[in-house]
Amino acid sequence: MKKLFLSLLIFALFPFFAVAQEYKPIIGVSATESSPASTPSTYVNAVKRAGGVPVVIPITTDSTQIAAILSVVDAVVMTGGADIDPLKYMGEEPIRALGEITPTRDEFDMMLIKMAVKRGLPLFGICRGEQLLNVAFGGTLYQDIPSQAGAYIKHNQDAPGSYGTHSIDIEKNSLIYKLLGSEKAVVNSFHHQAVKEPAPGFKVTAKSKDGIVEAIEMIGTDKVWGTQFHPESFVNAGDDFFLPLFEHLVKKAKEYRAGK
Ligand code: MN
Repeated sequence: MKKLFLSLLIFALFPFFAVAQEYKPIIGVSATESSPASTPSTYVNAVKRAGGVPVVIPITTDSTQIAAILSVVDAVVMTGGADIDPLKYMGEEPIRALGEITPTRDEFDMMLIKMAVKRGLPLFGICRGEQLLNVAFGGTLYQDIPSQAGAYIKHNQDAPGSYGTHSIDIEKNSLIYKLLGSEKAVVNSFHHQAVKEPAPGFKVTAKSKDGIVEAIEMIGTDKVWGTQFHPESFVNAGDDFFLPLFEHLVKKAKEYRAGK
């Protein structure tokens, strides 16, 4: 009888030990304007494949909602989307080649980025997410690469999302070099805007052959960075070359949780 009780006790407690041993960090993924409470499954799947638990952060401009969500997540992914309002956030008149802008999402993304970084949360910005990270800290963007940057490479590819079409050169002294172990990569490209001047406290860590910024990072930390390309599309399709970027976010998220 005593033996049965003991084995029942161990059986009952086992799940708690198991959970304690392998905490899976919760990664907040920002929602997109086309559906303000959801986000493309590519981001969600990339986080899952890296060992994180994705939760979508719905678009809101209520700072108490954002603060409450940030108190339960261990890291943030800022997703891609439309163009930023250049007048409101960069003091520039909109040029004719500017695309669609999404004012409510601009406000949400800006609040989310600033509040998350202030809390010390790890943050990975992708495409628009990388651009807004730069603008949030005082950097600027090209509103339209073809008309402003004189670039010759096609940055809006007509090819599947998980297919790389242009190469990038990666700065050796950077987080993404450390994670990818390579000074070269071939990336996908779905953008007509790009970082122009990096924000104070940030540096450019990758460029395309025509000089367009393809990655940035915050100086002095290894937990705030962004890519112009979409690594999640490769990871989602089973191509693991860029998986270390998401694994690093999950690692930093675990450290953030442990340090609380
Ligand atoms: Mn590109």
